[in-house]
Amino acid sequence: MWLYRIITCDLKKFATEYEASQDAQKGEFAEYQVDFRHPYIEIDNNKCILCSRCVRICNEVVGANALGLVNRGYKTYVAPSMAKNYRIPLVSLAAYVFLLVQQVLLQKNVIFKPGPVKLNKVKTICNYCSIGCEIEINHKNQFVMKVSGSEGMVNKDGNLCKYPKFGYNYLNRTDRIIKPLLKVNGEFREISYEKAYEVIREKIKEVEPDENAFFAGARLTNEELYLIQKFARGYAQTNNITSFHYLNRGKAYVKNATANVPFNQLKDASRIYLIGSEISMDNAVAGFMINKIKKRKNNIPVELITVHENSSMEHKADQTIKIKSIYHFIKAVNYYLVANDFQNGMFITDNCEGFEEYKENLLKENFVELIEKSGVPYMDQIIEFARI
Ligand code: SF4
Repeated sequence: MWLYRIITCDLKKFATEYEASQDAQKGEFAEYQVDFRHPYIEIDNNKCILCSRCVRICNEVVGANALGLVNRGYKTYVAPSMAKNYRIPLVSLAAYVFLLVQQVLLQKNVIFKPGPVKLNKVKTICNYCSIGCEIEINHKNQFVMKVSGSEGMVNKDGNLCKYPKFGYNYLNRTDRIIKPLLKVNGEFREISYEKAYEVIREKIKEVEPDENAFFAGARLTNEELYLIQKFARGYAQTNNITSFHYLNRGKAYVKNATANVPFNQLKDASRIYLIGSEISMDNAVAGFMINKIKKRKNNIPVELITVHENSSMEHKADQTIKIKSIYHFIKAVNYYLVANDFQNGMFITDNCEGFEEYKENLLKENFVELIEKSGVPYMDQIIEFARI
């Protein structure tokens, strides 16, 4: 472990490069116990040069404020808030460990190796959530030793969240299915890829083209999805392509992709609403973006609408509305807008179909009942929200 630290330590690297001599600043030094209490990191203040990068990334990027500088002057050291509570949220840890500041905050789940190991890197897309951050898998002979961030299309600054950072060990499991299996007489048998392609080809061709359907998983990359639709349309001659992700979600989801706003447009927002989203937990890198934009853009307001009693986003939002039903909340807001002719007509003309039908059905609802079912404590809260 020590050698691993030496080859990844910025302090060591720059001290060597600039030929820094320990004798130049010789004198008293403070000695700290290394803190091993957290399951994922350890804090070694003996190596800290008080650059505060770990404190700043926690505040400016993650918005968790979980670390701080304790004491002042010569006795200053880095510790979790109040130097007592060691429950640093995992969401922050990934960001600190991304910094690996002088090896003061050290990731603990890196596999021990008794010597410096030159790792090979493979760039890929994280498949834990739908954000699509670019990551680097660092491996030796296909044994994954760590996962680091890469500057991708979405995570332009190379930030990652807890999932790929700490959750990569499944890649080293020997019981993963990595070869095709064929069920014969109720039992799975390993077969070659050639045989698997042959079986798929036969199955596709033994029925009419439109009797085939292709379901693509929501965790696949754009490139993989492109290949699946190409295979379905080009080879199987069918347009029956969909995803399990959209099952039973109604027609509105069909055009979902065109309604999505690219992440880089978040910076143009003047107000951000998080409706039913625990973004720091579910899509943490998007949460980092919101936090950074908020800090840089004159504290633009972030408003949280949640059904959770204790939302993980509450301490980061400027205003929180606690409700019982997001469905009824949105419907009540829409009712108010449509009933008062406050809707954005230009947007609706450009982007919506069937608005008149929707309006007619919506106005048949009872506004007071919608508010009651939404769980909002008083009507003005909905009206205020709708009018902003
Ligand atoms: S937010 Fe986290 S889980 Fe989602 S793609 Fe990015 S690194 Fe992966």
